[in-house]
Amino acid sequence: MGITQKIDAITLIPEEYKSATLPAPKSVKIELSNSCNYRCGFCALRMREKQTNQDMDINLFKRITTEMREAGVEEIGCFFLGESFMNPALLLDAVTFMKKEIEMPYVFLTSNMSIATPQWVESIMAAGLDSLKWSVNAFSKEQFENIMDVKYKLFLRGLDNVKAAWEIREENGLRPDFMRRRFIMMIIRLMRLRSC
Ligand code: SF4
Repeated sequence: MGITQKIDAITLIPEEYKSATLPAPKSVKIELSNSCNYRCGFCALRMREKQTNQDMDINLFKRITTEMREAGVEEIGCFFLGESFMNPALLLDAVTFMKKEIEMPYVFLTSNMSIATPQWVESIMAAGLDSLKWSVNAFSKEQFENIMDVKYKLFLRGLDNVKAAWEIREENGLRPDFMRRRFIMMIIRLMRLRSC
């Protein structure tokens, strides 16, 4: 199933979910880390009354994901609000557990790309990550600094990380979904942004 159909499959409401007694959801997001190195003006992270900057206990994560798998959950994203690579060692442990121990069929991530370094990306892909998406929400240097409220160098660092991640995927035969066609278009746009 292509990634577009996957997104459609979790946004449409099937008949079995239109009743008083519901089955487990097929797809779940779990916030491993609730912190972020960006300060995007549109992000709900800024609306929290208290920002604790705490990471989830790995044993709690293992217990709830095991129960979710037994209940029928098929997809887990290791992020909700917050940047998914804020604690990469924890992220690697979580992905490894889900793919090797409980055989979760589909594990996915979205990242703002700035701290998704090649070393961690390679380890996490090798652990079995099924999908890695990049979140880029600005079309110019000025817009990036205004909306993300951080230095433009983070964008440039992120662009290098995205290119490295693509090369790791290709060189090692690792096959997480990367939205291939859109990815190439995004890289072209990012290269233009880099030169402005
Ligand atoms: S990068 Fe994502 S999680 Fe971080 S502030 Fe921006 S929208 Fe929120």
